[in-house]
Amino acid sequence: MKFIDEVEISNKKIIVRVDFNVPLNQDKTIANDQRIKDSIPSLSYLLDQDNQLIIISHLGRPKTRDASFSLWPVAHRLQKYLPEYNIKLIDDFLTGNNITSHSFNKVIMLENIRFYEGEDKNDPKFVNQLASLGDIFVNDAFAACHRDTASITGITKALPSYAGLLIKKEINILNKIIKDPQKPVVAIIAGSKISTKVGLIERFCDIADYILLGGGLANTLLAAQGNQIGKSLAEPDAIEQALKLLDQAKIKNIPLILPTDSVTITTETKPISNIGPEDKIMDIGPQTQEQFAKIISTAKTIIWNGPVGVFEDPRFRKGTDAIYEAIIANSQATSIVGGGDTISAIAENPGTEKITHISPAGGAMLEFIENNGHLPGLDSLDTQTNSN
Ligand code: ADP
Ligand code: MG
Repeated sequence: MKFIDEVEISNKKIIVRVDFNVPLNQDKTIANDQRIKDSIPSLSYLLDQDNQLIIISHLGRPKTRDASFSLWPVAHRLQKYLPEYNIKLIDDFLTGNNITSHSFNKVIMLENIRFYEGEDKNDPKFVNQLASLGDIFVNDAFAACHRDTASITGITKALPSYAGLLIKKEINILNKIIKDPQKPVVAIIAGSKISTKVGLIERFCDIADYILLGGGLANTLLAAQGNQIGKSLAEPDAIEQALKLLDQAKIKNIPLILPTDSVTITTETKPISNIGPEDKIMDIGPQTQEQFAKIISTAKTIIWNGPVGVFEDPRFRKGTDAIYEAIIANSQATSIVGGGDTISAIAENPGTEKITHISPAGGAMLEFIENNGHLPGLDSLDTQTNSN
């Protein structure tokens, strides 16, 4: 894979795939524009070399063309960050005169690429229609690299392709964690479902010295161990998977550390051994918070994904806040936090600058770790560069 700062690219028409999948408020204003800000280093770099940019992104999950998923608010915000350029949003690049009438613009942005069926289908005809807009392709959408779609993998077969600076930053940090981390490594994995994170936890059995577990996924593991969990969120269908995971960790001699107490729906603190049939575990309890914080304080590398409680309700976010506080209190450790809900859980907390890296790429970051550095979007950039 070649990065844009390792090659000479000037006076070209560059198709740049970014991830502008920002959270929107009800009134369609942008709730958080971090993803737009994160793309500026690559965009500015390419513009400084006198290139013309055709920017592609998706937003949300529209089934078809749908104005409520328009990139218009995003184009408007991007304009604020690139004030020297006149940014044109192209409603439909397939209607030819639409794009040719703006071909003199230095920065063109296409409407939500998911408005086109060919995107998710990775349809070769659509790939060629996209590729015909430029001379070069640059992928800087790390957060979308786990998708095998036209604007991520398909287009790399049609154009010389390079990776942008955000991808460079993300993979440098994540590679360090999975290939050469400073020990001890503490992974905190929580969130709702064990079935979606079993591969990740397995992978951490090879990387981490301690794995701390919480949230709904810990409930399933507790149930698999024979604990009563009452009406707590769990996945009965994943019990077998959970047992296999517990076995594997034992063989590898990696401690999988589960909560010993909880806060239930009635806001009572209860030891796990005392959960009754009507109880519902909503958060980790104070004893677990303390134990987890102690282990986190010994770490040289910390990776955290998943809220340990139903943080959306302020009564059940103390556990998640305790994990956060323990991480920022450990100034000797490299810390990485990722996951859509995890990031929104801590977004308003003071001190986020003390975290080494907050990865905006939820699913992609987790898959990158799980697959030992491989993602379809990155692999296709590798193959592409090798064959040239
Ligand atoms: P991320 O997006 O950071 O990867 P997940 O999507 O896996 O995280 O999980 C986040 C969700 O898990 C949150 O909506 C939170 O309410 C839920 N959750 C955490 N603990 C519990 C619990 N004990 N019971 C039910 N839901 C939980
Ligand atoms: Mg989530």
